[in-house]
Amino acid sequence: MHGTKILDEADRLMTVCNSCRYCEGLCAVFPAMEMRRAFSDGDLNYLANLCHSCGACYVDCQFSPPHEFNVNVPKTLAIARAESYAAYAWPRAFSGLFARNGLVLGLVAALSVAAFVFGFAAVNDRQVLYGIHTGPGAFYALMPHRAMAALFGAVFLYAILAIFLSLRAFWRDIGEPATLRADAASLWQAIRDAGELRYLDGGGVGCFNEDDKPADRRKVYHHFTFYGFLLCFAATCVATLYHYLLGREAPYAWWDLPVELGTLGGIGLVVGPVGLLAEKWRRDKALVDEQRYGMDVGFTVMLLLTGLSGLAVLFWRATNAMGPLLARHLGFVFALFITLPYGKFVHGLYRFAALVRYARERKMMAEASAEA
Ligand code: SF4
Ligand code: SF4
Repeated sequence: MHGTKILDEADRLMTVCNSCRYCEGLCAVFPAMEMRRAFSDGDLNYLANLCHSCGACYVDCQFSPPHEFNVNVPKTLAIARAESYAAYAWPRAFSGLFARNGLVLGLVAALSVAAFVFGFAAVNDRQVLYGIHTGPGAFYALMPHRAMAALFGAVFLYAILAIFLSLRAFWRDIGEPATLRADAASLWQAIRDAGELRYLDGGGVGCFNEDDKPADRRKVYHHFTFYGFLLCFAATCVATLYHYLLGREAPYAWWDLPVELGTLGGIGLVVGPVGLLAEKWRRDKALVDEQRYGMDVGFTVMLLLTGLSGLAVLFWRATNAMGPLLARHLGFVFALFITLPYGKFVHGLYRFAALVRYARERKMMAEASAEA
């Protein structure tokens, strides 16, 4: 017996699959499963987070519904994966936020956008709020740089702390030691596997979505979203260095590095989420954890709103719309960061940790075979 019903079901499926092994070439889940004869809760959470939900093993399986064995690996592991985020959440008191994540995200986004809009209106008179501000320091006419840095710095540090402690609990539960310093090769392998979404390709033919015809669309839109997010983050880091090291204040010219990174990132955060939402809408319901629909869609919509509002500030920053647009953009970014540890964002980090473990297991197996 496991800690939850879904882990009992995952154990049943992994036991069936371990006898069958037809899908062992499709992804990392089946080879990792074959290294085990029994599954602890930590093992099952590890396998669940190793799954990229490509759907191939459902389409290929001779035991999937309506067969009496009722084997549905993608959906079972999707539910187990979502429950694992709540199980390892820090602080535990907030783990319930995962279950109502769509509602929470909507409320937090609405409240934080309203707080920035009313805050801007309260501390600035109309001439400043609707004035045209250009040149270095233009944004800080509406909100002092120190206040902006303190607010977003505090939220960012809280998000990092909460995610770090959650991941540490997961890492220990899947049986890994506290340090990875001695295993740079596994870390590099996992970075490559995550960077190219290697296991979202259905064993090479593509991902299955609305029917049994594989395609790479979900992978492509994931790439737009992931690299768009990274580019926006890089733009913020470069702008911070400009501010503190070079004494150069935002906004910068269109050809300056923070603007170029931010523009490309913003485009990624529009194209990727729109594509992912369309794919999600079309996806075969048999593959989807419908109870977490709000969490999936909510996070994707938040990324889209962050990208759109950031691009709007960029395009209209030299007009009198800049103040209200900046307030909305800061509101969306604040809502995104404060909810990062309790929503779909964590899936990338748990999956990366699982990929590191998988790389380590494969390396240890290869070393053991070489010695034998
Ligand atoms: S998913 Fe089905 S076909 Fe694939 S290994 Fe499991 S039981 Fe076999
Ligand atoms: S859905 Fe794809 S990634 Fe997940 S277990 Fe099946 S084949 Fe592997």
